[in-house]
Amino acid sequence: MRPVICYPTDALPGADLVLYGSALAQAQVTETVLVPPRDAQSIRVPSGAFLRIVSVDGPQVGDLNLFNAKDLSERFYSGKTRALHGTHVSTGDRLWSSFPALRPMATVVADTLDWYGIDQDGGSVHDVIGTRCGPYTNHLLSGQDYHHCCHSNLTRAVAAAVDLPIEEAQGLVHDVLNVFMCTGFTRDTGQYFMKASPVRPGDALTLFAEIDLLPVLSACPGGDCGSEHSSDTAPCYPLLMEVLVPPADALVGWQMPTPNGYVGGHGTQG
Ligand SMILES: [Zn+2]
Repeated sequence: MRPVICYPTDALPGADLVLYGSALAQAQVTETVLVPPRDAQSIRVPSGAFLRIVSVDGPQVGDLNLFNAKDLSERFYSGKTRALHGTHVSTGDRLWSSFPALRPMATVVADTLDWYGIDQDGGSVHDVIGTRCGPYTNHLLSGQDYHHCCHSNLTRAVAAAVDLPIEEAQGLVHDVLNVFMCTGFTRDTGQYFMKASPVRPGDALTLFAEIDLLPVLSACPGGDCGSEHSSDTAPCYPLLMEVLVPPADALVGWQMPTPNGYVGGHGTQG
């Protein structure tokens, strides 16, 4: 039998990359936040602006959570993004939000690692496969407690960003976009693998904010994720987050995506 694409994306509203590219070329950096190694930070990006995640100092992978800044219940939906665009994202792909909104929260508009493509092992960069390294998985596998996995880093940063107790903040942390991470599935056993990221200082992934965003980024304790990721062993480097704001007239024709049009009720109403 031939494979059939589950979700052909031809019917989705297309990203106007020419418009986004022109707006990005005119945009000015208005804010920067440096994410320290083995820690996480948040930033706020208004709709119509850009978030650029930049590698600085050394090869480093980042685990990204995205929230609607005005409604934390709307957040990045890694699984649906994977179902629509595939295991890894690059320029032109959208980052979709959770039900019931299910709309593009952000669009990838520039990716300096797009040259990498898919390697001989089936590996590629910027995956929406992995969930994030976490202390629970680490404890299951090693019996050890480690407090600087991406899950814990994101939890602390969410708690600080929205002033919530740590356990409540933990409930908001969700499956990530693995920025710069090089991953795939082994051909023989179908297992999730990682290999050292090709990212180098100066590389960047740039997202257009389709709605008001609260991004939270962890600089993974795995560094380039070429060996292990739940310890202080790997060399780790900071990641830079930049907000770039284009002039008001640079986005003529762009409209904020509306929440999903499904009527609701799930068959219970009439
Ligand atoms: Zn991690």
